[in-house]
Amino acid sequence: MRRLPQVPAALEFDVVILGGGIAGLTCAVGLLDAGLRLAVVERDELLGGRARSWADPTTGDPVHVGPHIVTDCYSNFLSLLKRLDTGDRVVWEPESLLYTMFDGARAIELRRSSLPPPVQLLASLRADPALGLLDLASNAAAAGVALGLDERGVLELDGLDGGAALTTLGVTPAMQRRYWQFAAMSILNTPLGRCSAGSLLRAFHHAITRDAVRVGFPGVGLGDLFAPAARAAVEAAGHPVWTGTTATQLLGTDTRASGVRLADGRIVRARHVVSTLPPGDLAALLPESWQARAGLDSLRWFSPVPYISVYLWFDRRITSRQFWARAYAPDDLNCDFYDYANIYPGWAGRPSLVGSNIIDADRVARWSDAAIVERTRRELEENLPAARAAILRHAAVHRIPLAVQAPRPGFEARRPSVRSAVAGLLLAGDWTRTGLPSSMESAAASGWRAAEAVWADEGRPRTLVQPLPPRGRLARVVMAAARVAPWPPRLRRAMAQDG
Ligand SMILES: Cc1cc2nc3c(=O)[nH]c(=O)nc-3n(C[C@H](O)[C@H](O)[C@H](O)COP(=O)(O)OP(=O)(O)OC[C@H]3O[C@@H](n4cnc5c(N)ncnc54)[C@H](O)[C@@H]3O)c2cc1C
Repeated sequence: MRRLPQVPAALEFDVVILGGGIAGLTCAVGLLDAGLRLAVVERDELLGGRARSWADPTTGDPVHVGPHIVTDCYSNFLSLLKRLDTGDRVVWEPESLLYTMFDGARAIELRRSSLPPPVQLLASLRADPALGLLDLASNAAAAGVALGLDERGVLELDGLDGGAALTTLGVTPAMQRRYWQFAAMSILNTPLGRCSAGSLLRAFHHAITRDAVRVGFPGVGLGDLFAPAARAAVEAAGHPVWTGTTATQLLGTDTRASGVRLADGRIVRARHVVSTLPPGDLAALLPESWQARAGLDSLRWFSPVPYISVYLWFDRRITSRQFWARAYAPDDLNCDFYDYANIYPGWAGRPSLVGSNIIDADRVARWSDAAIVERTRRELEENLPAARAAILRHAAVHRIPLAVQAPRPGFEARRPSVRSAVAGLLLAGDWTRTGLPSSMESAAASGWRAAEAVWADEGRPRTLVQPLPPRGRLARVVMAAARVAPWPPRLRRAMAQDG
């Protein structure tokens, strides 16, 4: 008798969540008490996605994929940690310090002052010797536009690049180089001339309308902040978390998603398919008839920002700082540095373990690890001369092809909403339409939002997404005035030329 080919039986769930990074795990946690059958599918053996971490194979010390910060404005990421009871693993900077920028060996500290938002950082900026009063004053028009910005305004500015917008608004080259270029790289991971003016001015809006943001760091391996606890919670509720499992094709009719095929041939059927995959990975799974559908038609437009993160183990303590950044210079490699000996609890007697981020790392993709370590060390020594005497015991170079999607002009308009044009297919991930820069906060907000959409579709709506912290009173008054003020005609002209 001829044997029929084995067709694996479909696995039946109510919700299948693709991706076990922050967005996917947040969504799963948000659905734990929904009484639905869930499954999480993650390609990597390790959960955590772009926020994963591991023990360095030589030293055994916890290292993140690359150094990350959180801020006290991360309402959604912090609410995930609260649900998982891991919020106490975040180590916060001293109250008043926002960050330290090194120009050579000179440290310029940006601190919150007693002034309220939106002018809370003026005193620190005034103390920066690279800037004169005219440079500071040149921000007025840009600040006016940013203060009055809403999501419609973000989309209007989206076609223009950040550098062109600032130049049009009269921001001096010195001011652009010193702070705007730095903000574009560190918040948006994209140089001013290549980032969306909408993304840039919205980030500025958030930064100046709230009390100067406090910075925090994972006090454990980054992934250990959320991944093991999320997995334990999901599995304890009886739901599988499949790691090392790749989704290869989304399934359904022309108009409705009904499941996913896995690389091992298994089929997972579900009424709700939640993708938290980056756009390139999602594009590879779409049936042809979905590829032109609204929200799914731009997936291949997005482009990744690659990072290289460097970890250096020294024989001694070289600083008492937790975190510092270099003043922007186009030929520099590194943007931000961290000393984990001053961050990880219990490391008080340990020598320095310095981590750093090289953003937009295509520039140095061909460099050897040794050359990257050598140059990173040189940049570190420029800022911290004490590092010159230290002996480097060990180094690790992490090459990361995708840190975030580049917010180039047109990015905001293409970010898809949680509900796609295909019924039953929900979209989440840091790059989706959250109104936030691509970040852990955006990923968590998108995960909660996808869970909200499932709850709503089940006829039991509930609120999971947390608002950002409230704005200062003066900021609200100034915002109201800025909202009714027309944008400078020269900005409108630049937008028209660009569009
Ligand atoms: C070096 C570095 C530094 C950063 N610094 C900061 C920072 O300081 N602050 C901050 O807020 N953010 C920072 N970020 C960004 C932050 O890490 C991301 O925004 C966030 O982790 C994205 O989470 P996500 O869940 O949206 O996506 P991801 O973490 O990418 O999750 C998607 C998951 O889907 C999986 N997947 C893909 N394809 C498939 C498939 N076919 N089948 C199954 N699974 C699949 C992937 O393996 C991945 O785990 C940084 C990122 C990097 C890399």
